[in-house]
Amino acid sequence: MNTRRAVMTSFLIAVSLLFQSKLWAWGPVGHDVVALIADSRLSPAAKNQVAAILGPDGNLEQVANCADWIKYAKQDVSCGNFSLPPMPETASWHFIDIPINSQDPSGAITSACGPDGNCSIDQIESHLQILSDASATLDQKQQALMFVTHLVGDLHQPLHNATEILPDGTSDRGGNLKKMTFASGGAATNLHALWDDLIEPTSEAKNMDPESLAQTLEGEISDQDAAIWANASLADMALEGYAIAQNQIYPDYHAPGGDVVTSAYEDEMRPVAYLRLEKAGVRLAALLNKAFAPAPVPAPSSFEPISLKGKLPAIQKLVFPAVSSWGR
Ligand SMILES: [Zn+2]
Repeated sequence: MNTRRAVMTSFLIAVSLLFQSKLWAWGPVGHDVVALIADSRLSPAAKNQVAAILGPDGNLEQVANCADWIKYAKQDVSCGNFSLPPMPETASWHFIDIPINSQDPSGAITSACGPDGNCSIDQIESHLQILSDASATLDQKQQALMFVTHLVGDLHQPLHNATEILPDGTSDRGGNLKKMTFASGGAATNLHALWDDLIEPTSEAKNMDPESLAQTLEGEISDQDAAIWANASLADMALEGYAIAQNQIYPDYHAPGGDVVTSAYEDEMRPVAYLRLEKAGVRLAALLNKAFAPAPVPAPSSFEPISLKGKLPAIQKLVFPAVSSWGR
């Protein structure tokens, strides 16, 4: 470990101790799980591109949490095999605030993102375009892959798709301002943080590492479900999370005693959170497989018969033009 990397590592440990997972969408384990599920579902072409962007031993899990680190960092942070500067200006890219009880949730997506695309959906879309763009630089693709990997995870945290407008017209910031206490005692929390941490319970499952959780969840995903999930648009994904928040999370909070977290509440909601992680992993892989799909071979312009004799090298070049660029 060189000095620079040692400094960065120490910094990250300090940052993680400072913030733990409370301010991060999903805990770090959640984002790792999404990336691990996606990693196992990448097409050969997408795997090649991921290796070209993140290095031969690179994988999505290595960059799954970097987008959260750079929101709070005061100096460069190490992300996989590259480093990133602090980017506090990207904080609004992690969510899309659709007001609970909105008359027009789809329309609310457009206004929540605004003309500058300051929301998860627009940022995922624009970073996917960078990944498909043959003229994008390696630096641009590293950042794009890092953001897409993380933000698709965030898009599946229901409280990253919903917020409650308070009587004074301000927002509860996706439940961040909804205070909660634990029936079992201990430090207070809030509704948003509770959901971030649902998959990292304080019970025996705390020791569950991302790999084993990803493996367990992967085993629950049927091919049929995966095919259906992969067809969802980014807006569909946001509206799914919004519906969970509107129909389940906020009504439960406003019910009598809803601001006290019981183990029964956690046991009921944890499967909901797990299903969100499964969908996020499947969809992240589908989005990357599409972004990294080799360009289609142009159809021949005429059916004029040609003699293959002496022309094979030229034909091979025509049929496989993208292969040589996969490993760059
Ligand atoms: Zn985030």
